[in-house]
Amino acid sequence: MFGIFACMYLEFSQKLNKILEGVSNCLIIPHKNPDADALGSSMALFVFLTKLGKKVKVILPNSAPEYLEWMTNKPDVISYDENSEKTKRYLSNSQIIFALDFNSLKRIGSLGKEIENIKTPIIMIDHHESPEKFSTLFLSKPNIGSTCEIIYNIMKTINNKLIDKEIATYIYSGIITDTGSFRYPLTTAKTHNITSELFNKGINHTKIHENIYDNFSFERAHLLAVALKNLKKIDNLGVVYTILTKQELEKYNFKKGDTEGFVNFGLRIKGVNVSVIFIEDSNEDIIKISFRSKEKIDVSKFAKKYFSGGGHKNASGGFSNNSIIETEKKFIASVKEFFTR
Ligand code: 5GP
Ligand code: MN
Repeated sequence: MFGIFACMYLEFSQKLNKILEGVSNCLIIPHKNPDADALGSSMALFVFLTKLGKKVKVILPNSAPEYLEWMTNKPDVISYDENSEKTKRYLSNSQIIFALDFNSLKRIGSLGKEIENIKTPIIMIDHHESPEKFSTLFLSKPNIGSTCEIIYNIMKTINNKLIDKEIATYIYSGIITDTGSFRYPLTTAKTHNITSELFNKGINHTKIHENIYDNFSFERAHLLAVALKNLKKIDNLGVVYTILTKQELEKYNFKKGDTEGFVNFGLRIKGVNVSVIFIEDSNEDIIKISFRSKEKIDVSKFAKKYFSGGGHKNASGGFSNNSIIETEKKFIASVKEFFTR
């Protein structure tokens, strides 16, 4: 098992290294509404490739949430929604495109249309289930907790000496967020070994946790209170859910990223195995849904079956085009159908 695992990294890294030899302009794209794993893997690779002597640009499908801006605050990082002309220029100049932390063009929104017919080779590196075929070369590892862990192993194989404190900081950020600070089932001894190596690169782990988690605005704290107050349970099935309406979000001056992590609170209740949050998105006129579950329960199947979504076994997403009332009704009926066996 270990042999196959190690060999796949080695084989991929060797192929990638060969491709990189003939390339000077690289482009990196993470998924839309980027989290610390998407940004961490992108920014780590950005610094690494720059140190390899490449010209590198990062295009975010939309801008990073405020609390993660410290990761993307560089002139070579732009967002497509604010710079569509520059994006086109960067796309036509690039010789290679890295697609990080997503495996379906749907996950990069309208930027997907810009690259779906592009001739430039696309290298996809990701850890979600069911990868779609849009890349030239890919490494898909759904059994790894974060894309940051994968990209760290690739960089380490190509040139360990280039991994500095900045790269290590980005990698640590993605690892802690995607493993729930080392508690989710995909956290392994290898994850901890990597973390030990990151500590040896000089990271300030306390500061990184503070940057990511201790930065609530006053309104965000109040919005969390509303989400918790709105919590409902579906009796005997260990399922809880909450809803944040457009009006509630407006009242507490909602900014992108503010609801991150809210859904996890439901799982703290004794006997609860599934927690769900419905968030009314006034920009896109949909209801965005997040699903979280405890170990044995696969919410990605539920998200896929009823809410056009997917993701990981214990952390998935989906959406609904219907009203809040209809969505809630459909949800309750679906839970009763899916979880009553
Ligand atoms: P979140 O609830 O944090 O938005 O997403 C949790 C996980 O589900 C993420 O890893 C993400 O990749 C996946 N996910 C979120 N929304 C969707 C969606 O609409 N479709 C699919 N296939 N996956 C999603
Ligand atoms: Mn991820």
